[in-house]
Parts: sequence; structure tokens; C-alpha cells
Amino acid sequence: MLKYVNTGVVFQEIPDEVTLSINISNCPCRCPGCHSKYLWEDIGTPLTSIEIDAIIDKCNQDITCVCLMGGDSNPSYINTLAEYIHVTHPKLKVGWYSGKTIISSDINKSNFDYIKIGPYIRHLGALKSKTTNQRLYKKETNGEFTDITSRFWKK
Ligand code: SF4
Repeated sequence: MLKYVNTGVVFQEIPDEVTLSINISNCPCRCPGCHSKYLWEDIGTPLTSIEIDAIIDKCNQDITCVCLMGGDSNPSYINTLAEYIHVTHPKLKVGWYSGKTIISSDINKSNFDYIKIGPYIRHLGALKSKTTNQRLYKKETNGEFTDITSRFWKK
């Protein structure tokens, strides 16, 4: 069972979306420059489907997307949650921020609209840095995923 520590409505993590982000704990990635070390511990509230519904219901902003931030310790469960959100909240898109370099084989990409991969490597920077190793992919209408990382870069 995955747990989450906190949530927030964010505008920059996924371009063109108002995103409810859910910060998941027990991160196994151990990025050397980690900016959220508190997420390494297995702490917080169990992230059940009932809890997801409660978080969405409690949110008082017009969100367009739910993004699961983390969860690399159990990608199969992330996949289950993404499918649940799509079925139960069909108007909402679903994103996943993974710290791994490749997408887990436990993930069915059709359950997601956005997937970010890549650990945080301080000298390369996060998504806003042109030298970043991280990538954000968006599902297009034909089901294929396109790399939209450059959307984070100022022209
Ligand atoms: S993926 Fe890396 S940066 Fe993100 S919480 Fe885990 S260790 Fe920290």
C-alpha cells in the first residue's frame, strides 16, 4: 500500500493543466540532490481509492488533472490508481511523476495522460533546465506519447 504525505494544486508541473498533485512517500530512488527527503520515509496516509475520492471532493479548485508524485516502490499500484481515477473521474487527466529512468513494465500507459521519468540530478537540473535528464511525455489523441519537456524551457 502506498501512502501520501500532502497534496496541492499546482500550475507548472503539467503544462496547460490545473493539477492536483499527491505527494507519495517511501520513495526508493534516493536521488543524491533530493529536494524532498522527507518522502524517503514510509509515512503518511494510505492512498486508497476512497482516499483519492475524498482528496478530489475536498479540492475547491477547478482541477483538470491529478498527478501521482512518486510511488516507484509500487508501480503496479500506481497503475491501479490511475485506472481508477480515469474510470471514476472521467473528466480528469492522470499524470505520474516517476524518479526512474525507464517506465516500469507494471505500467499500462493507456491509463495515463502524462508520464514524467528521470531521477533528479542536481548538476543537470529539473525539468525547467535545458540540460535536464528528466522527460515529460504527453499522450496524444492517437495514444502515442510525445516528449513535451521543451515546454518547460523559456524561449
Ligand atoms: S524521485 Fe528523487 S528527488 Fe524525487 S523524492 Fe525521490 S529521491 Fe527525492
